[in-house]
Amino acid sequence: LDLKEKISPLKFQPILLKKIWGGQKLHSLLGKGARGSEKIGESWELSGLPSNPSIISEGQFEGESLLDLIEKFKDQLLGKKVYSGFKGKFPLLFKFIDAAEDLSIQVHPKQDQADPKTEMWYIIQADSGSTLFSGFSKNLTGEDFQSYFENGQLLDILNRDEVNEYDAFYLPSGRIHTIGKGLLLAEIQQSSDTTYRIYDFDRVDDFGKKRELHVNEARSSLDFSEVGSNRKHVPPKIGSSDLIFSPFFNTRIWKASKEQKQAIENGKDSFLVLMTLKGGGSIRWKDGSLELKKGETTLIPAVIEKLELITDTEIVLLETWIP
Ligand SMILES: [Zn+2]
Repeated sequence: LDLKEKISPLKFQPILLKKIWGGQKLHSLLGKGARGSEKIGESWELSGLPSNPSIISEGQFEGESLLDLIEKFKDQLLGKKVYSGFKGKFPLLFKFIDAAEDLSIQVHPKQDQADPKTEMWYIIQADSGSTLFSGFSKNLTGEDFQSYFENGQLLDILNRDEVNEYDAFYLPSGRIHTIGKGLLLAEIQQSSDTTYRIYDFDRVDDFGKKRELHVNEARSSLDFSEVGSNRKHVPPKIGSSDLIFSPFFNTRIWKASKEQKQAIENGKDSFLVLMTLKGGGSIRWKDGSLELKKGETTLIPAVIEKLELITDTEIVLLETWIP
């Protein structure tokens, strides 16, 4: 470690992924990518997956990968408990998602399986009449599920929620779900890229091909006790409000009005991640300051324990850390 180098808050190049269900809102509402880009479904804001790691976009570490910085700064970046508990791996994945069409109905591996994934969504914008599926609508056995599925009645046994801006959804691994069309959201999840697709609405891609389904794998991951809605409506209020607290990540929402200062205390022995959803401002810490802009994601190293949030306009942001 070069002693002259000091870790500071980091911003990243978004990793933009084209999807058959993607749209234009990542550009039009969050300023991602080029105007007119077709069907961009996901912006990976912060990823430590070795197959697709985030690259630092500005400052003294511009061009370096998150993985290199973790190797260099270890627990100063991640926190002592996180660094040892996750063996130097970055434990979470942060995305913005624009669903112009429904995503596939899917499930992720459970906590006792390989690559488990619990996730949460916070709705940034919803077209009127938007809905999504999350959980089953009634108690079922694996055999019940199989017969509904084979009879083409899967949608009849899923819980469907109406969705509005500022709704939050917690999706423990094993809970069946899909994001519905018309939704722009922030997704925070365990670092895993394993999705078992159960049903894809019989859609075909530009080449007339259907996407692969993984019904057998999905069946072993489905949790049939995940029944009914768990939607929460949490509009931002001045100061911070708790959004989702779970064994895997804790997330709060912050709001500050024009020309205000708020202290964000870390001291949680974890990194913090700030996703700016609306407005803009800056953060200030002992050794410097950094601007925050709508649509940007910022990683605050664990070693920076005190931050001040200073607003220009009103600002709304999500703060996430490892409990
Ligand atoms: Zn999912």
